[in-house]
Amino acid sequence: MDFAYTPEQETLRKEVRAFIAEHVTEEVLAARGSSESNSSRGESGPMVELYDKIYQRGWLGITYPKEYGGQGGDRMTQYIVEEEFTRVDIPVGMGGSGAPAIMAAGTEEQKQYYIRGLIKREISFALGFTEPYAGADLASLQCRAVRDGDEWVINGQKMYTSSAHVSTHIYLMARTNPDAPKHRGISIFLFPMDTPGITVRPLWTMQNDPVAPVGTTYGHQRTNETFFDDVRIPASSLLGKENEGWRVGSMGLNLDRVGASRYLISVRRDEDIVNFVKTNTFDGYTPASDPAMRDKIAELWIEAQVCRLMTMRSMSIVNHGGNFTYEGSAEKTWAPEHGVRTTEAIAQMLGPYGQLLNGSPHAVESGVFAHNLQGAFQSGINHGSTQVMRDQISRRGLDMPRK
Ligand SMILES: Cc1cc2nc3c(=O)[nH]c(=O)nc-3n(C[C@H](O)[C@H](O)[C@H](O)COP(=O)(O)OP(=O)(O)OC[C@H]3O[C@@H](n4cnc5c(N)ncnc54)[C@H](O)[C@@H]3O)c2cc1C
Repeated sequence: MDFAYTPEQETLRKEVRAFIAEHVTEEVLAARGSSESNSSRGESGPMVELYDKIYQRGWLGITYPKEYGGQGGDRMTQYIVEEEFTRVDIPVGMGGSGAPAIMAAGTEEQKQYYIRGLIKREISFALGFTEPYAGADLASLQCRAVRDGDEWVINGQKMYTSSAHVSTHIYLMARTNPDAPKHRGISIFLFPMDTPGITVRPLWTMQNDPVAPVGTTYGHQRTNETFFDDVRIPASSLLGKENEGWRVGSMGLNLDRVGASRYLISVRRDEDIVNFVKTNTFDGYTPASDPAMRDKIAELWIEAQVCRLMTMRSMSIVNHGGNFTYEGSAEKTWAPEHGVRTTEAIAQMLGPYGQLLNGSPHAVESGVFAHNLQGAFQSGINHGSTQVMRDQISRRGLDMPRK
């Protein structure tokens, strides 16, 4: 196995770096959100203009087919482009977008409309899975969809619909057959967030007060509760077959975990710490000369490389059309837990200063390390908790019986 990049891949990396140096200006940096919250390009002018330029360069939707607005390219190209943009907190990947499930189960019309829109960042989905009584045990969800002529009528509540206040559409899991076993009576629907009957209420997280500074790589500032009261949507909003939403949704979630973004958030954190440690001294203490710190940082860097190899393996399996079962769960366990260990290590190194949040006069780097420490724990919960991921690894990867 040769892990080196080809000369063409190295050239691409240089091109992306040059593009970033020219176009990711101070104005753009001020307009961007954090890595996890900036899922859509939003209203702001500089971000819209930047995404248009990135699209013109052919760096959005790289692995998606040309007939749906993609580039028909390979995953390593995607990986390199994503890696460079992650360093400046500009998401260019399709991770968490809902696109893999639409590609696998959507009608031709849905693929033409949604994949094209997602790639150009004109469409973004809020993910409507979790409910007040259905989180880790998602199959217990109660939000109902009832067929009425050419329409479906939705009633119920979703929790933690993270970007519902800025998304154009929702990707909703609802119960369509309450009499079937719980995994079998679920369907998925795609529809606009401005459909009458939808109410979005904010759920503020601890990253909101004080607001996490730019450069924070972990943690949403806001998530939401979303209510559906007699929401009428056309029959064509159904994704895949009626009552097969569990299969479509799980496959989509698993594939959504493939790719660079999770690993790259971790590696970005490692790089920030190394850069910071190399250039700073506190009260006469130089962490870069402390053998214990050097040892710890090297250990974390090695962990990040393990994460990178897991990512490469997943991409390779998907590229070869292989059976992708537990590998995404392994990445989704390792990367967030590495993130927690990394943020804890820098907090120990900085001592009490490392606990101070944005706005405190003595905060280090505007409190970015303290905010990452708070936020790192979220990434072990959202998009499937690490405990649930471990259960999937034991069942699907190690063939252990269901509890
Ligand atoms: C910041 C943030 C953003 C989120 N964004 C979204 C979103 O956009 N859309 C969406 O639909 N959801 C979202 N979620 C919800 C997330 O997917 C759920 O929080 C998660 O699935 C856990 O569900 P729960 O919170 O109801 O916890 P519970 O299901 O009550 O679980 C509590 C704890 O028990 C553990 N646990 C539960 N059952 C088992 C078991 N059988 N074996 C071992 N351990 C178990 C869990 O791992 C967890 O640690 C988000 C969550 C957070 C924190």
